[in-house]
Amino acid sequence: VPKLMAGKRGLVMGVANDRSIAWGIATALHAAGAEMAFTYQGAAFGKRVLPMVEKLGSRIIEEADVENEESLDRLFARLQKEWGRLDFVVHAIAFSDKEELKGRYVDTTKANFQRSLTISCYSFTDIARRALPLMTEGGSLITLTYEGATRVMPSYNVMGVAKAALEASVRYLAADLGPQGVRVNAISAGPMRTLAGAVIGSARYVYRVSREASPLRRNVELTDVGGAGLYLLSDLSAGVTGTVHYVDAGYHAIGMPPQASENG
Ligand code: NAD
Repeated sequence: VPKLMAGKRGLVMGVANDRSIAWGIATALHAAGAEMAFTYQGAAFGKRVLPMVEKLGSRIIEEADVENEESLDRLFARLQKEWGRLDFVVHAIAFSDKEELKGRYVDTTKANFQRSLTISCYSFTDIARRALPLMTEGGSLITLTYEGATRVMPSYNVMGVAKAALEASVRYLAADLGPQGVRVNAISAGPMRTLAGAVIGSARYVYRVSREASPLRRNVELTDVGGAGLYLLSDLSAGVTGTVHYVDAGYHAIGMPPQASENG
């Protein structure tokens, strides 16, 4: 790929380790010439993330917790001061109490419902609002979602409800920001073995069924999501906004898994 992202500057939120989806996207963007600022959540993640992102030549690395307004104020003040302009944002953040990522959705508590929606959905809107004044030459924002937003997946529970709200926010944000040349899209990734992914009850079962029933007969990898991230954040997708783009080996297209004998 030619240096599709040369001269572009962006913020990447959600790297926890080298299996993070945000990291898969960041390495694809780096190879295409992007300059990136990173955030990490808390000192423990910081220790791991700092050396990783320094290798990508990043100078702006900030601790930020989306539940902490001041940390976001600090982050955007720094981006304003050091860059003054932002071209893209990667939002790859989600959280729910793992006790509620098993059993029945009907048992979700109000406290965890609110916290899950705040971290996993509202934070994207919050970041979009803060990023907008910096996107003086247009821009592109992406977030990460999962098919549990539209169909029931085992144990996904409140996270499915949060992702449904997140996907709706993508459409409303696209409508709000489009007139300023800012695009907003989501990548709906198939199940991946990350820290957040492992917390979901039935993770191994979901991983296996997705692999066996997907048209491509495999799970998706970081490079798959990285390629889609590069497309959505670069000018290749200049005419695309308000969409949910599936990177799931085609699983979403299937109504019923194939019979074992036809399972190619
Ligand atoms: P991950 O654990 O590597 O990343 C999740 C990130 O969210 C971590 O970096 C964590 O620090 C961050 N985070 C959580 N609460 C936060 C807070 N309050 N403030 C700031 N950051 C916070 O796992 P991942 O799978 O790479 O997750 C990234 C995104 O991809 C999530 O939105 C997830 O729902 C989505 N996704 C994951 C899968 C999967 O199977 N792993 C599939 C589809 C979508």
